[in-house]
Amino acid sequence: MNFSPAKWRRHFPLLAAHHELHYLDNAATGQTCAAALNAATAFDTQSRANVLRGTYRLAEQADAAYENARRQAAAYLNAAGSEEVVFTAGTTASINLVAHAFGEGLHAGDEVVLSLAEHHSNFVPWQMLRERRGVVLRLLPLTADGRIDLSRLGETLTPRCKLAAVTHASNVTGAVTGLAPIVAAARAVGARVLIDGAQAVQHGPVDVAALGADFYAFSGHKAFGPTGVGVLWGRGEALAALPPFLGGGGMIGRVTVEETTYAPPPRRFEAGTPPIAQAIGLGAALDWLRAQPWADMNAHTARLAQRLIDGLAVLRGLTFLGPRDLKERLPIVSFNLEGIHPHDACQVLDEYGVAVRGGHHCAQPLMDFFGVQGAVRASIAPYNDDADIDALLAGLQDAVRKLK
Ligand code: PMP
Repeated sequence: MNFSPAKWRRHFPLLAAHHELHYLDNAATGQTCAAALNAATAFDTQSRANVLRGTYRLAEQADAAYENARRQAAAYLNAAGSEEVVFTAGTTASINLVAHAFGEGLHAGDEVVLSLAEHHSNFVPWQMLRERRGVVLRLLPLTADGRIDLSRLGETLTPRCKLAAVTHASNVTGAVTGLAPIVAAARAVGARVLIDGAQAVQHGPVDVAALGADFYAFSGHKAFGPTGVGVLWGRGEALAALPPFLGGGGMIGRVTVEETTYAPPPRRFEAGTPPIAQAIGLGAALDWLRAQPWADMNAHTARLAQRLIDGLAVLRGLTFLGPRDLKERLPIVSFNLEGIHPHDACQVLDEYGVAVRGGHHCAQPLMDFFGVQGAVRASIAPYNDDADIDALLAGLQDAVRKLK
């Protein structure tokens, strides 16, 4: 393997400045890479103007940089074209956009299929849609170790289904969803498919053409890009079929006192001034990421996850949430130690310079399924190394001594 986590770390100014930090909360947010920071700063210091409004040279430069970011995002996703990329505020905003725009065409009794493993951002917008339109939510069940149970697909996704909205990978268990059968079942009944890609994008480029879905949502900050920006990818024809969600400047064809016509996608869905510098930063991050040695990097993070799982196994009173085997699984490891509250464990770990998250991870239905209130979650990125895992294990041993 010719991948060096130490060298990769140098691309992340915060980590380069904090040698003592063991940052293992990557599922919550990745650190920002230098490519993103530099591109966003270059925009603000050299070509800042509003986009798609001005005719002077500076405004044209801003337009070019913004549209270039759209192309960079399209390339990361293997989208058919940059017009399939809508910049949003993040995964949550992307899913809400679809819940409103697509939801507009749904009627009482139409069904939306989710899974029990969804993040609240792929749950609550659909519950709100249920309030507005009377749609029925159907849930794909889970296997005992927390994978989406595809053996029950046929009874959940029926001809009444209009949309299946499922996560690409769980932010709690790291389990990667077997999307192909879900997409095929949805296609068979003419339903659309939305994939929540918030976690998956951090672990390499995505191929939306191969996935065969209609919508793909993700956040820039999980992909080592800026906060405040994200993407909704939509298949050309699927986006064109949607009415706008937010109204305002930039999304119109023509406005008269009587009525408004709308711009084609993606502008139809980008009302108001978009997060320009952030989108440009995200484009640069994705462009940089696309060129990285992902096979080696994923082998590296899987090895670290295995080191963690092996180290945890010897702790007394430990329970895992999710599959132990690392097949079809991201390097996200959630667990509980009997008698120790996740927040207390995190506090002890902080003394070891270890940043991990404890709580329900915005996945309370999944926590209910596991019968727990919360869990400690360590989520690994390519810049992590053995020392990060060992500090976490040492801190946990101390937590067991102190808190049990
Ligand atoms: N879905 C999943 C699977 C996530 O992990 C997250 C972030 N934790 C989100 C959606 C929401 O992302 P954001 O808060 O960036 O909108």
